[in-house]
Amino acid sequence: MNLSEYIRNIEDFPKAGVHFKDITPLLANSRAMESCLQQLMDLIGTQKIDKVAAIESRGFFFGTLLAQKLNAGFVPIRKPGKLPYTTLKEPYKLEYGMDALEIHEDAIKKGERVLLHDDVLATGGTARAACNLIENLGGEIVQCNFLIELEFLNGIKKLRNHSVQSLLKY
Ligand code: 5GP
Repeated sequence: MNLSEYIRNIEDFPKAGVHFKDITPLLANSRAMESCLQQLMDLIGTQKIDKVAAIESRGFFFGTLLAQKLNAGFVPIRKPGKLPYTTLKEPYKLEYGMDALEIHEDAIKKGERVLLHDDVLATGGTARAACNLIENLGGEIVQCNFLIELEFLNGIKKLRNHSVQSLLKY
């Protein structure tokens, strides 16, 4: 199934000049969801995964489904102040200003094999910060896995030392 038919382009969201890829038409179609999950699984192949770590909030949709399929645990990586237990925090640069991501300090054990998943790889700052959190806990990142890669933003450069796989490239 060609999943690009289920991705809607939204001009000037969340701000002027941004061409936003809206995945909600895909989420709204159960056949597209099923095909997408299978295609994401195909990117992973037979690699053993202990934990799937996914980034708030759109990474959670397929992150939990992937964890189930892989017989792996699920780890949420969230915006500051959302996780209830003790966290590690990683600040990162936005186009204007800073943001940060957090992970529970006991979410990943040293040496565990981790799949990082998010919906979109854009400039790569978000995924890089998530990788840093996973690696600071001693996790081994097996693959950075995305639904969509916006190649023209060159986010892959920030993930140079990792295997990066995405289903749709723009
Ligand atoms: P980056 O840090 O790579 O610039 O941005 C990636 C993060 O922003 C991801 O968590 C992703 O959900 C969100 N993001 C950036 N651009 C888009 C987009 O066009 N569509 C969607 N759905 N998310 C985006």
